Amino acid sequence: MAEAHAVETATLVKHELRLRVPFVRGKRSGQVPTKLPHSFYLEAYRLNGTGDRARLWVSMLEELTQVRSLDLLTALPWAYAIDRRQLLRTNRAWCSSCYESWRSSGRPVYEPLLWMLQVVTVCPDHRQPLDSLCPLCGRTQFVLSSKSRPGHCSRCRSWLGRVHEADIMDHHVAEHLRTAEIVADLLAASPYVGNRVRWRKTRLINSLLKFCHSHNVSLIRALADRPEQRRE
Ligand SMILES: [Zn+2]
Ligand SMILES: [Zn+2]
Repeated sequence: MAEAHAVETATLVKHELRLRVPFVRGKRSGQVPTKLPHSFYLEAYRLNGTGDRARLWVSMLEELTQVRSLDLLTALPWAYAIDRRQLLRTNRAWCSSCYESWRSSGRPVYEPLLWMLQVVTVCPDHRQPLDSLCPLCGRTQFVLSSKSRPGHCSRCRSWLGRVHEADIMDHHVAEHLRTAEIVADLLAASPYVGNRVRWRKTRLINSLLKFCHSHNVSLIRALADRPEQRRE
């Protein structure tokens, strides 16, 4: 959004967004902040998640932009099915080939939800490991930062897209690739899940994936499985 309006992420967050969303916890719960909390960017990865904070941000952004279903850009559709523990990574990860191919073909550069999930370590399109260190400055980054710009390092601001040489995939990468494909299929189903499906309880994504791998089934199928009928 900051990119489309040619402003810095920090400006957009500070002046337009953050002060519209109340605290969700602590003694100031329900109050709207008067200034940006120090921990905002540190905890901003939760905006992609399944908690109250994500819910509040989605409704605020839907109101401001008049765009509906922004929850589909987060893990919210799965809030009642998948446990939030072990779900989101706190540091940014990306596929340099995705960035490069989007830019060279004139498509918008963005940060897919798939890359935000801890269990996803390989890009299913390019079959290469996701990066988490900038090749120029060598630093890690928060998922959202005051200098965030899609496809660019938020520390040194350099372009992160690269043309990747195809490697021979070893067994280790092949298994991670399968995981990434299973999770990508689940996220693709987000628009159809709604709140119509009532899951028995939330389950850890890692134990669900173990079931997917051993039974060669999708995550949706694993979610429909009765945990009491098997040992994990
Ligand atoms: Zn890719
Ligand atoms: Zn950098």
